[in-house]
Amino acid sequence: WRQTEYRRMTPMAYSYDDQNIFAKILRGEIPNDTVLETEHSLAFRDIRPQAPLHILVIPKGAYVTFDHFAQNASDAEIADYVRTVGKVCEMEGVEADGWRLISNAGENAVQEVPHLHVHILGGRALGRMLE
Ligand code: IMP
Repeated sequence: WRQTEYRRMTPMAYSYDDQNIFAKILRGEIPNDTVLETEHSLAFRDIRPQAPLHILVIPKGAYVTFDHFAQNASDAEIADYVRTVGKVCEMEGVEADGWRLISNAGENAVQEVPHLHVHILGGRALGRMLE
């Protein structure tokens, strides 16, 4: 995450950097390990997995963070995105042992790639996140 890529002028005025790595993945400029592609979303494996199961799910639209997406995307995009997370969970069989969903936004959360993504983590005991 670089400060210059994230300018929040007003609550909904996010500026989107179309040179971010996930924008390049969506344009087919760099490869990815796709798990599932739908009309509005793409799920692919994290290049530096933090758990046996580590999948990222992104919307195809130019949204920086979850709140940016939630406040600006169409109902069709939002439904597709949430259903894609659910479908990936079903495909990967996370239900039996449990799993975690995380989305980092902005500087405090150390967001590295300024295109909305949720992390699906599983396949091992993940520990307690909040005390
Ligand atoms: P963030 O810290 O929540 O922004 O997480 C960004 C994630 O993107 C990290 O877990 C990286 O390992 C992952 N990542 C960065 N580049 C790529 C890539 O080209 N393919 C797949 N995952 C990537």
